[in-house]
Amino acid sequence: MGLQQKLAFSRRHFCLCCTGAAFAATGGWLTPRQAYAEARGLVTLIKDSAASSPVTAYKLRGNVTVLEGSGGNIAVLTGPDGKLLVDAGISVSRPQLTKALSELSNEPVTNLINTHWHFDHASGNDWLHSIGAKIIAHENTRKHLSEVQRVEDWDYNFLPSPAGAIPTEVISTNRALKLNGASIELKPYKPAHTDGDLSVIFGEADILHAGDTYWNGIYPFIDYSTGGSIDGMIAASDANLAAATNNTIVVPGHGKPVSSKSELKDFRDMLVEIRDKVAALKKAGRTLPETVAAKPTAAHDAKWGQFLIDPGYFTKLVYEGV
Ligand SMILES: [Zn+2]
Repeated sequence: MGLQQKLAFSRRHFCLCCTGAAFAATGGWLTPRQAYAEARGLVTLIKDSAASSPVTAYKLRGNVTVLEGSGGNIAVLTGPDGKLLVDAGISVSRPQLTKALSELSNEPVTNLINTHWHFDHASGNDWLHSIGAKIIAHENTRKHLSEVQRVEDWDYNFLPSPAGAIPTEVISTNRALKLNGASIELKPYKPAHTDGDLSVIFGEADILHAGDTYWNGIYPFIDYSTGGSIDGMIAASDANLAAATNNTIVVPGHGKPVSSKSELKDFRDMLVEIRDKVAALKKAGRTLPETVAAKPTAAHDAKWGQFLIDPGYFTKLVYEGV
């Protein structure tokens, strides 16, 4: 594909998700963030920012820590059986992660769970496997990591992962593990953010890692290319609420890494309200640009719209599924 074609191709896709929508809504002006995202590509932008981001550790309970700064939030359980990681982050932040992990304890990483296949949760698989981690994931995650995978809404084709990055233990139903004295439960969701989402529950510490079914304080991405949908996200939010009590520490895939059931409920209620508004507009025959121009997310934008998934982009993701 020539450069001109490539630009037209990429513009067509970004047109649908953010640029074109913002164009319609703002009378032709792109915000710097949107113009930048279009020029660089969202995936490249996220990778580049991880390369220079520091990794910050938050101690939770029961030898569980969460690391923020390498793509999705990473939970780490330490102990004599070796470290268990929930998600692997982005491969480019290996130096920061190596340092953060060594500051927690001396044990090697022995186990890694992928909450789903996305690059900001699984592109660190290869190096973590190379230092001794066994990788556990949903069977659909293994499938997506093994094949060429196009994510339309990111306008990006992911190549098959190297052999070391492919999960060797796959599940499709609930699985219980006992490691470092902790009871760990892996629970597949019905298709939500993707068709391979898992939650991980640390029983005694009462911690729920919800992967990308929960974004704390920011609009979520939804991957329709691999089975995600807005209704699936709402159903997963209900499952998360049912699995949590007021004492549970909830770890979101993205956003402020230490969260609670009440913040989870705010997220669920926001999804439901926007879904209903966008569905009503679509049912009334509004096109996507008209729906974005009607600003169905307006009441929520100040709180939730301050990240890469901006109001126009999120409206497009909801519109796609109603
Ligand atoms: Zn994701």
